Amino acid sequence: EDHQQLDLWSKPAAAATRIPLGLKSKSLRIVVTGGAGFVGSHLVDKLIGRGDSVIVVDNFFTGRKENVMHHFGNPRFELIRHDVVEPLLLEVDQIYHLACPASPVHYKFNPTNVVGTLNMLGLAKRIGARFLLTSTSEVYGDPLEHPQKEDYWGNVNPIGVRSCYDEGKRTAETLTMDYHRGANVSVRIARIFNTYGPRMCLDDGRVVSNFVAQALRKEPLTVYGDGKQTRSFQFVSDLVEGLVKLMESDHIGPFNLGNPGEFTMLELAQVVKETIDPEAKIEFRDNTADDPHMRKPDISKAISMLGWEPKIPLREGLPRMVDDFKQRIFGKDGTSSS
Ligand code: NAD
Ligand code: UDP
Ligand code: UDP
Repeated sequence: EDHQQLDLWSKPAAAATRIPLGLKSKSLRIVVTGGAGFVGSHLVDKLIGRGDSVIVVDNFFTGRKENVMHHFGNPRFELIRHDVVEPLLLEVDQIYHLACPASPVHYKFNPTNVVGTLNMLGLAKRIGARFLLTSTSEVYGDPLEHPQKEDYWGNVNPIGVRSCYDEGKRTAETLTMDYHRGANVSVRIARIFNTYGPRMCLDDGRVVSNFVAQALRKEPLTVYGDGKQTRSFQFVSDLVEGLVKLMESDHIGPFNLGNPGEFTMLELAQVVKETIDPEAKIEFRDNTADDPHMRKPDISKAISMLGWEPKIPLREGLPRMVDDFKQRIFGKDGTSSS
């Protein structure tokens, strides 16, 4: 995966630099906030690979330098340690705003979604850049409609333990549309459903990373509640493709970006067992409060308006993250214990 990306990157840079004068150059200056994180770093690989100049803005709250280190030394790549809750002055064409404490253990009491988004919208307004918000399926809360369409307004507890995340993202969507209507900022909104792949945070408590790490460590897979709740899991390269298509489309959104393949957590545990360790045990734990019972995107809008559709089913995607997890858990040679 990484090597593939590096191959892309080592190809002669922007074909754009050799486009005859008079033709519009396609090479862009792009900020990716949260670009040292899981999704962000894959997006950066794609943008650098096609010849753009990329500035990553990240405070390393959950992101890691290792995720983007292979671009160090590339003159088209810059990394800035910065918290988007503070103002930021830059000149770019596009802003992919991903910065966010993205998992239950990290998102409590954090103003990033509101203040950080406001700042990045202020930046977009000042410099005339296009702004893309990575919102989330969590805006649908514990949905009373299934599957979820973009015109569903959701069922969210405003004072619960998850509210900082889902209400934070709902506020971020509101701010985004207000800057569009009030200040004429060119905006895009993606509502991302559960995504997995290499470079996922090992310890942020999400179900796919938990199960994969547990199976590799020969620990029991921890299923919360009765395990009958459902999620729909999307491989990260499909998401990155969708984000870029949305940024470059003529449509504001919101667009659901997710894989409609729906699994109970017990079924997911089964797929992880088949992929990594058929002997793995399952251990039931109490579920967290306000856990959505089901979630599955209706992606007909993205299919028809963006010409986008995910390509990689769970059983193909899961094996693609195993090597990366093995390396990070056991070390490069895969022999050390931990
Ligand atoms: P991640 O935690 O790997 O990435 C988030 C990045 O933002 C990290 O690098 C973190 O250090 C950075 N960050 C956090 N707060 C910041 C701040 N105040 N200033 C600067 N940087 C900050 O998570 P991810 O899965 O890559 O998520 C990326 C985006 O996609 C997030 O906005 C998230 O809400 C959204 N999303 C992800 C999923 C998913 O399943 N992965 C689902 C729905 C939405
Ligand atoms: N902002 C920023 N970079 C810029 C322009 C604005 O970080 O290049 C921040 C600014 O500090 C403010 C927010 O974005 O907190 C909203 O800016 P806007 O100009 O929309 O609002 P105002 O400053 O007029 O309240
Ligand atoms: N979950 C689980 N075991 C774990 C972690 C999570 O069964 O070790 C469950 C969790 O209760 C939820 C689902 O998996 O029902 C998805 O959780 P995650 O935090 O990955 O994503 P989100 O709830 O944000 O969709």
